[in-house]
Amino acid sequence: MSNLIKGKHHDWETVIGLEIHAQVKSNSKLFSSSSTTFGSNPNSQVSLVDAAMPGMLPVINKYCIEQAVKTGVGLNAKINKYSIFDRKNYFYADLPQGYQISQYKYPIIGEGKVTIDFKDGSSKEIRIVRLHLEQDAGKSLHDQNPTKTYVDLNRSGVALMEIVSEPDLRNADEAGLYISKIRSILMYLDTCDGNMQEGSLRADVNISVRKPGDEYGTRCEIKNLNSIKFIKQAINYEVKRQIEVLEDGGSIEQNTLLFNTSTGKTKPMRSKEEAHDYRYFPDPDLLPLEIDQEEIDNIKKLIPELPDERKKRYVDEYNLSNYDASVLTSDKAISDYFDSVIKSDFSLKASSKIVVNWITSELFSILNENNLEIINSPIKPKDLGKLVKLINEDIISGKIAKEVLIEMFNTTSDPQIIIDKKGLKQVTNTDEIEAFVDEVIEENKKMVEQYLSGKDKLLGFFVGQSMKKSKGKANPQILNEIIKKKLSKKN
Ligand code: ADP
Ligand code: MG
Repeated sequence: MSNLIKGKHHDWETVIGLEIHAQVKSNSKLFSSSSTTFGSNPNSQVSLVDAAMPGMLPVINKYCIEQAVKTGVGLNAKINKYSIFDRKNYFYADLPQGYQISQYKYPIIGEGKVTIDFKDGSSKEIRIVRLHLEQDAGKSLHDQNPTKTYVDLNRSGVALMEIVSEPDLRNADEAGLYISKIRSILMYLDTCDGNMQEGSLRADVNISVRKPGDEYGTRCEIKNLNSIKFIKQAINYEVKRQIEVLEDGGSIEQNTLLFNTSTGKTKPMRSKEEAHDYRYFPDPDLLPLEIDQEEIDNIKKLIPELPDERKKRYVDEYNLSNYDASVLTSDKAISDYFDSVIKSDFSLKASSKIVVNWITSELFSILNENNLEIINSPIKPKDLGKLVKLINEDIISGKIAKEVLIEMFNTTSDPQIIIDKKGLKQVTNTDEIEAFVDEVIEENKKMVEQYLSGKDKLLGFFVGQSMKKSKGKANPQILNEIIKKKLSKKN
């Protein structure tokens, strides 16, 4: 697919780089023992350190460090054995310290890479510049009082991982695939809960456009987007805006923008600050962070099978296409479910594509209708496996199987039991099927004549009517053959 956008005078290429903020999954904050639980009463999880009382000292949370290293391994990145915490100085009403403890020159994680997969089966590597640890700020509440702004410091000091990509992304879809992939890796690693609605994962999106072959253009940065849909909308809007400005002879100012989710437009928030504006310097209250090889090796032992390895396993062992496998593995819960279905009966390996289809179409639609996540599915993997086997063995048709699935959802019983109880077993007995067909022919003599005089389309009518007589249970192939045979005999 070409990434070029047609302008009035020539083509344009989009260049995008993402700074993803992922909240570290941990019980307590980066430098204090306060809880990180989401949605608690305002200011109920604030220690003296988080409130920046004079003389309070930060103490590093070892678990957050391990989580960052784990994430670095999952992003195929360099783990830096030596890193430094710096103060990034700025004023915000919800930042009581007057600075954020972050990492600047020496981040805990260096260069890495992740792969994104496209529908056509191809894939692309996106380079990661770095991952550093930093504190989150508090939250200003503007909607509690008509004349006052309140501050909630529960989030103040919670650990964030900032993951910075190279400007390797070329359109909104690639940016969407990239953030989904990062999200899924973090969720497999259990280092971030991935909940974008609650703000556990959000991104600053840097965008510029250029004529193909030119140097990178001046970029704008859209702050704090917390849904993939908004990221794509914001990119598409901003790219169009920048191209229009440039084609009209203007130039792009390097601004920080906000995206208005109701209008779908970006607007300037402030002109871009430079690193030197923050007066970064090493936090004198914290020693340099040193990690030794043994610690890194121990953390590596905790790394589970990640989406790419799983994808490869699905392609190699189950013959799934690269894209199907990437869709399936992108959500750990769905992929775990699939694995359990196959594990319940290894003969299903040969029908893995059918299993995938049943999960992603029929099972999903029932779960969606009932607002259930797959981990809470009343239909257990082994029972879905049995259902697929029953279809494969021609005991029931796919159509009846959908009915059985609904019953499985309502009763959580084994599909075989439902089939026996409701008498849903497929009719393969030719005598029985012939009887249904005969009835239909008898009742529709006119149609038979029309069919015989050349109206071939009517075949579907006879199939449908006979199937109805069998209450959907006739084996469709046998039924088809019998109808064709009977109707041609009349010739
Ligand atoms: P800063 O520290 O000022 O935010 P960085 O150089 O660290 O700037 O880059 C921040 C992000 O902007 C990175 O994700 C990078 O890939 C992206 N980026 C840099 N230059 C461009 C550009 N010309 N167009 C689009 N994105 C860019
Ligand atoms: Mg930035």
